[in-house]
Amino acid sequence: MRVRAYRFRAYSSKTTARVLKTQLEVACKLYNTLLHAEKEEYERNKHSMNKTELRQLALDLRKQNQEFQALHSQVTQQVADRFYEARQRFFEGLANKPKKKKPHRYLSLVYPQSGWKLSDTREVGQGKNKKRKARLYLSKIGFFTLVMHRELPENQVSQVCVKLNPSGRIHVIFLVEEPESQELSSKEPKKAVGVDLGITRLATLSDGRYLENPKPLERSLERIRLLQRRLSRKKFLSNNWLKAKRRLAKQYEYEHVKDLRRDLFFKLGVLLAQEYDVLVLEDLNVQGLIQSGTKKRGRLRLYDSSFSELRAVLEWEFRKRGKLVLPVPAYNTSRECFLCGGINKGLTLEDRVFHCPYCGFTIDRDLNASLVLLKRAGWEPPVVPEELRPLPPLPSLGLKRRQGVAMIQEAPALERG
Ligand SMILES: [Zn+2]
Repeated sequence: MRVRAYRFRAYSSKTTARVLKTQLEVACKLYNTLLHAEKEEYERNKHSMNKTELRQLALDLRKQNQEFQALHSQVTQQVADRFYEARQRFFEGLANKPKKKKPHRYLSLVYPQSGWKLSDTREVGQGKNKKRKARLYLSKIGFFTLVMHRELPENQVSQVCVKLNPSGRIHVIFLVEEPESQELSSKEPKKAVGVDLGITRLATLSDGRYLENPKPLERSLERIRLLQRRLSRKKFLSNNWLKAKRRLAKQYEYEHVKDLRRDLFFKLGVLLAQEYDVLVLEDLNVQGLIQSGTKKRGRLRLYDSSFSELRAVLEWEFRKRGKLVLPVPAYNTSRECFLCGGINKGLTLEDRVFHCPYCGFTIDRDLNASLVLLKRAGWEPPVVPEELRPLPPLPSLGLKRRQGVAMIQEAPALERG
Protein backbone atom coordinates (compact mmCIF):
# COMPACT_ATOMS: atom_id res chain seq x y z
CA MET A 1 0.00 0.00 0.00
CA ARG A 2 1.03 3.52 -0.70
CA VAL A 3 -0.10 6.61 1.18
CA ARG A 4 -1.30 9.65 -0.71
CA ALA A 5 -2.18 13.03 0.70
CA TYR A 6 -5.11 15.11 -0.50
CA ARG A 7 -4.95 18.69 0.61
CA PHE A 8 -7.93 21.04 0.54
CA ARG A 9 -8.45 24.62 1.52
CA ALA A 10 -10.89 24.93 4.40
CA TYR A 11 -13.03 27.78 5.65
CA SER A 12 -14.71 28.14 9.01
CA SER A 13 -16.58 30.63 11.12
CA LYS A 14 -14.52 32.89 13.36
CA THR A 15 -15.71 30.97 16.39
CA THR A 16 -14.57 27.64 14.97
CA ALA A 17 -11.22 29.12 13.98
CA ARG A 18 -10.83 30.34 17.55
CA VAL A 19 -11.69 26.90 18.93
CA LEU A 20 -9.10 25.37 16.63
CA LYS A 21 -6.49 27.80 17.82
CA THR A 22 -7.24 27.05 21.47
CA GLN A 23 -7.07 23.32 20.79
CA LEU A 24 -3.70 23.71 19.16
CA GLU A 25 -2.48 25.49 22.26
CA VAL A 26 -3.84 22.70 24.45
CA ALA A 27 -2.26 20.03 22.25
CA CYS A 28 1.02 21.88 22.46
CA LYS A 29 0.77 21.98 26.23
CA LEU A 30 0.04 18.26 26.30
CA TYR A 31 3.05 17.58 24.07
CA ASN A 32 5.28 19.53 26.42
CA THR A 33 3.81 17.76 29.44
CA LEU A 34 4.59 14.40 27.87
CA LEU A 35 8.09 15.54 27.09
CA HIS A 36 8.58 16.57 30.70
CA ALA A 37 7.08 13.33 32.07
CA GLU A 38 9.27 11.22 29.82
CA LYS A 39 12.35 13.09 31.00
CA GLU A 40 11.47 12.56 34.66
CA GLU A 41 10.70 8.89 34.10
CA TYR A 42 14.03 8.41 32.40
CA GLU A 43 15.97 10.20 35.12
CA ARG A 44 14.23 8.24 37.84
CA ASN A 45 14.01 4.75 36.33
CA LYS A 46 16.25 4.86 33.26
CA HIS A 47 13.23 3.81 31.26
CA SER A 48 12.02 5.20 27.94
CA MET A 49 8.29 4.88 27.56
CA ASN A 50 7.06 2.99 24.52
CA LYS A 51 4.24 4.01 22.25
CA THR A 52 1.48 2.34 24.26
CA GLU A 53 2.75 3.75 27.54
CA LEU A 54 2.91 7.24 26.10
CA ARG A 55 -0.61 6.96 24.71
CA GLN A 56 -1.89 5.73 28.05
CA LEU A 57 -0.14 8.54 29.83
CA ALA A 58 -1.73 11.06 27.48
CA LEU A 59 -5.16 9.59 28.13
CA ASP A 60 -4.58 9.62 31.89
CA LEU A 61 -3.53 13.24 31.75
CA ARG A 62 -6.69 13.98 29.83
CA LYS A 63 -8.79 12.25 32.47
CA GLN A 64 -7.21 14.23 35.27
CA ASN A 65 -7.06 17.59 33.60
CA GLN A 66 -10.14 19.52 32.56
CA GLU A 67 -8.18 21.53 30.05
CA PHE A 68 -7.02 18.51 28.05
CA GLN A 69 -10.59 17.29 27.76
CA ALA A 70 -11.11 19.92 25.11
CA LEU A 71 -9.28 17.51 22.78
CA HIS A 72 -10.88 14.51 21.15
CA SER A 73 -9.51 11.29 22.68
CA GLN A 74 -7.95 10.13 19.42
CA VAL A 75 -6.32 13.49 18.92
CA THR A 76 -4.89 13.14 22.42
CA GLN A 77 -3.35 9.80 21.50
CA GLN A 78 -2.00 11.23 18.32
CA VAL A 79 -0.16 13.96 20.27
CA ALA A 80 1.52 11.10 22.15
CA ASP A 81 2.35 9.40 18.84
CA ARG A 82 3.85 12.61 17.53
CA PHE A 83 6.12 12.88 20.53
CA TYR A 84 7.00 9.18 20.25
CA GLU A 85 7.97 9.55 16.62
CA ALA A 86 10.06 12.65 17.25
CA ARG A 87 11.89 10.75 19.97
CA GLN A 88 12.42 7.70 17.76
CA ARG A 89 13.92 9.91 15.06
CA PHE A 90 16.28 11.23 17.70
CA PHE A 91 17.19 7.69 18.83
CA GLU A 92 17.91 6.72 15.24
CA GLY A 93 20.16 9.70 14.85
CA LEU A 94 17.91 11.32 12.25
CA ALA A 95 16.89 14.37 14.24
CA ASN A 96 17.74 16.47 17.22
CA LYS A 97 16.36 15.70 20.64
CA PRO A 98 12.67 16.69 20.85
CA LYS A 99 12.39 20.09 22.43
CA LYS A 100 9.63 21.92 24.20
CA LYS A 101 7.33 23.22 21.50
CA LYS A 102 6.25 26.82 21.27
CA PRO A 103 2.52 27.37 20.69
CA HIS A 104 3.09 29.34 17.51
CA ARG A 105 4.94 26.36 16.05
CA TYR A 106 2.34 23.75 16.93
CA LEU A 107 -0.02 24.06 14.01
CA SER A 108 -1.81 20.83 13.26
CA LEU A 109 -4.13 18.28 14.81
CA VAL A 110 -4.64 14.76 13.54
CA TYR A 111 -7.79 12.64 13.71
CA PRO A 112 -6.69 9.05 13.04
CA GLN A 113 -9.86 7.03 12.42
CA SER A 114 -12.85 8.57 14.02
CA GLY A 115 -14.02 11.93 15.25
CA TRP A 116 -14.58 13.37 11.81
CA LYS A 117 -17.32 13.26 9.23
CA LEU A 118 -17.46 14.45 5.67
CA SER A 119 -20.89 15.28 4.27
CA ASP A 120 -22.94 17.42 1.98
CA THR A 121 -20.66 17.30 -1.07
CA ARG A 122 -22.25 19.65 -3.55
CA GLU A 123 -21.67 21.70 -6.70
CA VAL A 124 -21.92 25.46 -6.34
CA GLY A 125 -21.62 28.35 -8.76
CA GLN A 126 -22.03 28.52 -12.50
CA GLY A 127 -19.73 28.13 -15.47
CA LYS A 128 -16.19 29.13 -14.68
CA ASN A 129 -16.96 29.69 -11.03
CA LYS A 130 -18.25 26.19 -10.57
CA LYS A 131 -16.80 24.54 -7.49
CA ARG A 132 -17.36 21.44 -5.48
CA LYS A 133 -17.73 22.01 -1.80
CA ALA A 134 -18.11 19.70 1.14
CA ARG A 135 -18.75 20.00 4.83
CA LEU A 136 -16.32 18.53 7.32
CA TYR A 137 -17.20 18.03 10.94
CA LEU A 138 -14.35 17.61 13.39
CA SER A 139 -15.48 16.41 16.78
CA LYS A 140 -14.85 18.96 19.56
CA ILE A 141 -13.90 21.64 17.04
CA GLY A 142 -16.80 22.23 14.67
CA PHE A 143 -17.67 22.58 11.00
CA PHE A 144 -15.46 23.51 8.07
CA THR A 145 -16.34 24.11 4.45
CA LEU A 146 -13.86 22.47 2.09
CA VAL A 147 -13.24 23.38 -1.50
CA MET A 148 -12.87 19.99 -3.18
CA HIS A 149 -10.68 20.84 -6.15
CA ARG A 150 -10.01 17.15 -6.80
CA GLU A 151 -11.74 13.84 -6.35
CA LEU A 152 -11.24 12.29 -2.92
CA PRO A 153 -11.65 8.52 -2.45
CA GLU A 154 -13.58 9.07 0.75
CA ASN A 155 -13.86 5.50 1.93
CA GLN A 156 -10.10 4.93 1.81
CA VAL A 157 -9.20 7.81 4.12
CA SER A 158 -7.00 6.64 6.97
CA GLN A 159 -6.51 9.94 8.77
CA VAL A 160 -7.47 13.58 8.68
CA CYS A 161 -5.18 16.42 9.59
CA VAL A 162 -6.28 20.00 10.12
CA LYS A 163 -3.60 22.61 9.77
CA LEU A 164 -3.69 26.25 10.71
CA ASN A 165 -1.12 28.08 8.65
CA PRO A 166 0.73 31.00 10.21
CA SER A 167 -1.10 33.32 7.82
CA GLY A 168 -4.44 32.22 9.28
CA ARG A 169 -5.45 30.02 6.35
CA ILE A 170 -6.72 26.58 7.17
CA HIS A 171 -5.97 23.42 5.20
CA VAL A 172 -7.33 19.95 5.68
CA ILE A 173 -5.20 17.02 4.58
CA PHE A 174 -6.66 13.55 4.07
CA LEU A 175 -4.30 10.60 3.98
CA VAL A 176 -5.52 7.86 1.69
CA GLU A 177 -4.13 4.35 1.37
CA GLU A 178 -3.96 3.18 -2.20
CA PRO A 179 -2.60 0.05 -3.83
CA GLU A 180 0.85 0.38 -5.43
CA SER A 181 0.75 1.25 -9.09
CA GLN A 182 2.01 -1.25 -11.62
CA GLU A 183 5.76 -1.47 -12.14
CA LEU A 184 6.90 -1.05 -15.71
CA SER A 185 8.13 -4.17 -17.43
CA SER A 186 11.88 -4.33 -16.98
CA LYS A 187 12.80 -5.40 -20.51
CA GLU A 188 12.00 -2.28 -22.49
CA PRO A 189 14.61 0.43 -22.77
CA LYS A 190 13.77 3.43 -20.71
CA LYS A 191 13.85 7.07 -21.58
CA ALA A 192 15.78 8.85 -18.90
CA VAL A 193 16.10 12.49 -17.95
CA GLY A 194 18.70 14.08 -15.69
CA VAL A 195 17.62 17.10 -13.69
CA ASP A 196 20.11 19.52 -12.21
CA LEU A 197 18.80 21.89 -9.54
CA GLY A 198 20.36 25.29 -9.18
CA ILE A 199 19.80 28.77 -7.91
CA THR A 200 19.85 30.83 -11.08
CA ARG A 201 17.92 28.20 -12.91
CA LEU A 202 15.75 26.14 -10.68
CA ALA A 203 15.89 23.04 -12.86
CA THR A 204 17.94 22.20 -15.92
CA LEU A 205 16.95 19.09 -17.84
CA SER A 206 19.41 16.93 -19.72
CA ASP A 207 17.29 17.42 -22.85
CA GLY A 208 18.31 21.05 -22.77
CA ARG A 209 15.17 22.62 -21.39
CA TYR A 210 15.25 24.55 -18.19
CA LEU A 211 12.99 26.15 -15.64
CA GLU A 212 13.89 29.58 -14.40
CA ASN A 213 13.34 30.68 -10.84
CA PRO A 214 9.92 32.34 -11.04
CA LYS A 215 10.24 36.12 -11.01
CA PRO A 216 7.58 36.75 -8.35
CA LEU A 217 9.72 34.69 -6.02
CA GLU A 218 12.64 37.01 -6.63
CA ARG A 219 10.52 40.07 -6.05
CA SER A 220 9.03 38.81 -2.85
CA LEU A 221 12.51 38.24 -1.48
CA GLU A 222 12.96 41.98 -1.14
CA ARG A 223 9.83 42.31 0.93
CA ILE A 224 10.71 39.29 3.02
CA ARG A 225 14.02 40.82 3.93
CA LEU A 226 12.26 43.97 5.07
CA LEU A 227 9.73 42.04 7.17
CA GLN A 228 12.47 39.92 8.69
CA ARG A 229 14.29 43.03 9.79
CA ARG A 230 11.11 44.35 11.40
CA LEU A 231 10.49 41.07 13.16
CA SER A 232 13.96 41.03 14.64
CA ARG A 233 13.30 44.37 16.32
CA LYS A 234 10.22 43.11 18.18
CA LYS A 235 10.30 41.44 21.56
CA PHE A 236 10.31 37.64 21.17
CA LEU A 237 6.77 36.16 21.51
CA SER A 238 5.20 39.54 22.31
CA ASN A 239 1.94 40.45 20.60
CA ASN A 240 3.73 42.66 18.14
CA TRP A 241 6.23 39.91 17.45
CA LEU A 242 3.43 37.47 16.69
CA LYS A 243 1.78 40.01 14.43
CA ALA A 244 4.98 40.63 12.53
CA LYS A 245 5.60 36.91 12.36
CA ARG A 246 2.20 36.36 10.82
CA ARG A 247 2.77 39.08 8.28
CA LEU A 248 6.08 37.49 7.36
CA ALA A 249 4.54 34.07 7.09
CA LYS A 250 1.95 35.40 4.73
CA GLN A 251 4.54 36.87 2.49
CA TYR A 252 7.10 34.17 2.94
CA GLU A 253 5.54 30.81 2.64
CA TYR A 254 1.84 30.64 2.53
CA GLU A 255 0.64 33.25 0.14
CA HIS A 256 0.53 33.42 -3.64
CA VAL A 257 4.20 32.85 -4.22
CA LYS A 258 4.06 29.50 -2.60
CA ASP A 259 0.94 28.44 -4.45
CA LEU A 260 2.38 29.66 -7.70
CA ARG A 261 5.59 27.78 -7.12
CA ARG A 262 3.79 24.60 -6.15
CA ASP A 263 1.63 24.80 -9.21
CA LEU A 264 4.65 25.25 -11.43
CA PHE A 265 6.46 22.34 -9.81
CA PHE A 266 3.52 20.04 -10.35
CA LYS A 267 3.21 21.05 -13.98
CA LEU A 268 6.88 20.30 -14.51
CA GLY A 269 6.53 17.00 -12.66
CA VAL A 270 3.58 15.90 -14.78
CA LEU A 271 5.30 16.96 -17.99
CA LEU A 272 8.48 15.03 -17.19
CA ALA A 273 6.71 11.95 -15.90
CA GLN A 274 4.69 11.79 -19.11
CA GLU A 275 7.74 12.08 -21.34
CA TYR A 276 10.24 10.00 -19.40
CA ASP A 277 10.47 6.69 -17.57
CA VAL A 278 13.49 7.36 -15.38
CA LEU A 279 14.25 10.46 -13.38
CA VAL A 280 17.88 11.01 -12.40
CA LEU A 281 18.51 13.47 -9.58
CA GLU A 282 21.41 14.51 -7.44
CA ASP A 283 21.55 12.69 -4.17
CA LEU A 284 22.68 15.76 -2.35
CA ASN A 285 22.64 17.77 0.76
CA VAL A 286 21.19 21.00 -0.51
CA GLN A 287 22.20 22.85 2.61
CA GLY A 288 25.84 22.08 1.90
CA LEU A 289 25.58 23.33 -1.65
CA ILE A 290 23.99 26.59 -0.66
CA GLN A 291 26.25 27.37 2.22
CA SER A 292 29.44 26.66 0.40
CA GLY A 293 28.22 28.75 -2.48
CA THR A 294 27.36 31.95 -0.70
CA LYS A 295 27.21 33.61 2.65
CA LYS A 296 23.73 35.11 2.44
CA ARG A 297 22.09 32.28 4.29
CA GLY A 298 18.94 34.00 5.48
CA ARG A 299 17.95 34.87 1.98
CA LEU A 300 18.71 31.46 0.65
CA ARG A 301 16.55 29.53 3.05
CA LEU A 302 13.80 30.23 0.58
CA TYR A 303 15.67 28.53 -2.21
CA ASP A 304 16.49 25.70 0.11
CA SER A 305 12.83 24.96 0.63
CA SER A 306 12.15 25.38 -3.10
CA PHE A 307 14.71 22.71 -3.86
CA SER A 308 13.37 20.12 -1.52
CA GLU A 309 9.81 20.85 -2.55
CA LEU A 310 10.65 20.56 -6.23
CA ARG A 311 12.52 17.32 -5.66
CA ALA A 312 9.64 15.90 -3.69
CA VAL A 313 7.12 16.86 -6.37
CA LEU A 314 9.20 15.39 -9.21
CA GLU A 315 9.84 12.17 -7.32
CA TRP A 316 6.20 11.93 -6.42
CA GLU A 317 4.99 12.30 -10.01
CA PHE A 318 7.35 9.56 -11.19
CA ARG A 319 6.73 7.12 -8.36
CA LYS A 320 2.99 7.61 -8.64
CA ARG A 321 3.16 6.28 -12.17
CA GLY A 322 5.35 3.36 -11.14
CA LYS A 323 8.37 4.96 -12.76
CA LEU A 324 11.91 4.96 -11.53
CA VAL A 325 13.72 7.66 -9.58
CA LEU A 326 17.50 7.28 -9.41
CA PRO A 327 19.46 9.47 -7.02
CA VAL A 328 23.11 9.54 -8.06
CA PRO A 329 26.15 10.90 -6.24
CA ALA A 330 26.31 14.65 -6.62
CA TYR A 331 30.02 15.04 -6.05
CA ASN A 332 31.63 17.30 -8.65
CA THR A 333 28.69 17.15 -11.07
CA SER A 334 29.20 20.69 -12.22
CA ARG A 335 32.97 20.42 -12.62
CA GLU A 336 33.11 17.14 -14.51
CA CYS A 337 33.12 17.19 -18.31
CA PHE A 338 30.27 15.00 -19.41
CA LEU A 339 32.02 14.13 -22.66
CA CYS A 340 35.49 13.05 -21.51
CA GLY A 341 35.06 12.86 -17.73
CA GLY A 342 37.86 15.33 -17.00
CA ILE A 343 37.50 17.60 -13.98
CA ASN A 344 37.56 21.32 -14.66
CA LYS A 345 39.13 22.52 -11.42
CA GLY A 346 39.08 26.16 -12.44
CA LEU A 347 35.27 26.38 -12.72
CA THR A 348 33.77 28.89 -10.33
CA LEU A 349 30.16 29.50 -9.33
CA GLU A 350 30.06 32.56 -11.54
CA ASP A 351 30.97 30.67 -14.73
CA ARG A 352 27.79 30.03 -16.66
CA VAL A 353 29.53 28.17 -19.46
CA PHE A 354 31.51 25.00 -19.00
CA HIS A 355 34.68 24.76 -21.02
CA CYS A 356 36.64 21.53 -20.77
CA PRO A 357 40.41 22.08 -20.54
CA TYR A 358 41.06 18.50 -21.73
CA CYS A 359 38.85 17.93 -24.74
CA GLY A 360 37.80 21.48 -25.48
CA PHE A 361 34.10 20.72 -25.14
CA THR A 362 32.01 23.81 -24.48
CA ILE A 363 28.50 23.67 -23.12
CA ASP A 364 26.11 25.49 -20.83
CA ARG A 365 27.17 24.84 -17.26
CA ASP A 366 23.89 23.51 -15.88
CA LEU A 367 23.20 21.43 -18.96
CA ASN A 368 26.58 19.77 -18.53
CA ALA A 369 25.74 18.99 -14.91
CA SER A 370 22.43 17.40 -15.83
CA LEU A 371 24.14 15.30 -18.50
CA VAL A 372 26.77 14.19 -15.99
CA LEU A 373 23.96 13.05 -13.72
CA LEU A 374 22.45 11.05 -16.53
CA LYS A 375 25.82 9.50 -17.29
CA ARG A 376 26.30 8.52 -13.65
CA ALA A 377 23.00 6.70 -13.81
CA GLY A 378 24.50 4.41 -16.46
CA TRP A 379 23.59 6.15 -19.67
CA GLU A 380 26.30 6.32 -22.35
CA PRO A 381 26.52 9.73 -23.99
CA PRO A 382 26.25 9.82 -27.74
CA VAL A 383 28.74 11.80 -29.76
CA VAL A 384 27.54 15.32 -29.36
CA PRO A 385 28.28 18.09 -31.80
CA GLU A 386 30.28 20.94 -30.41
CA GLU A 387 27.71 23.54 -31.30
CA LEU A 388 25.74 22.91 -28.15
CA ARG A 389 25.36 26.57 -27.52
CA PRO A 390 22.63 28.65 -25.96
CA LEU A 391 19.90 29.97 -28.24
CA PRO A 392 17.00 32.27 -27.47
CA PRO A 393 14.64 30.28 -25.28
CA LEU A 394 11.26 28.95 -26.38
CA PRO A 395 8.72 29.59 -23.71
CA SER A 396 6.29 26.86 -22.84
CA LEU A 397 5.34 26.60 -19.19
CA GLY A 398 8.39 28.73 -18.56
CA LEU A 399 10.42 25.79 -19.77
CA LYS A 400 12.94 26.88 -22.28
CA ARG A 401 14.89 24.91 -24.81
CA ARG A 402 18.47 25.10 -25.85
CA GLN A 403 19.71 24.10 -29.23
CA GLY A 404 21.85 21.12 -30.05
CA VAL A 405 19.75 19.04 -27.81
CA ALA A 406 17.58 17.32 -30.33
CA MET A 407 20.35 14.83 -30.98
CA ILE A 408 20.79 14.01 -27.36
CA GLN A 409 17.14 13.63 -26.81
CA GLU A 410 16.88 10.75 -29.21
CA ALA A 411 19.55 8.84 -27.43
CA PRO A 412 18.67 8.52 -23.77
CA ALA A 413 17.69 4.89 -23.65
CA LEU A 414 18.68 3.30 -20.43
CA GLU A 415 18.66 -0.35 -19.57
CA ARG A 416 17.29 -0.86 -16.15
CA GLY A 417 19.50 -2.91 -13.89
ZN1 LIG B 1 36.18 17.08 -21.72
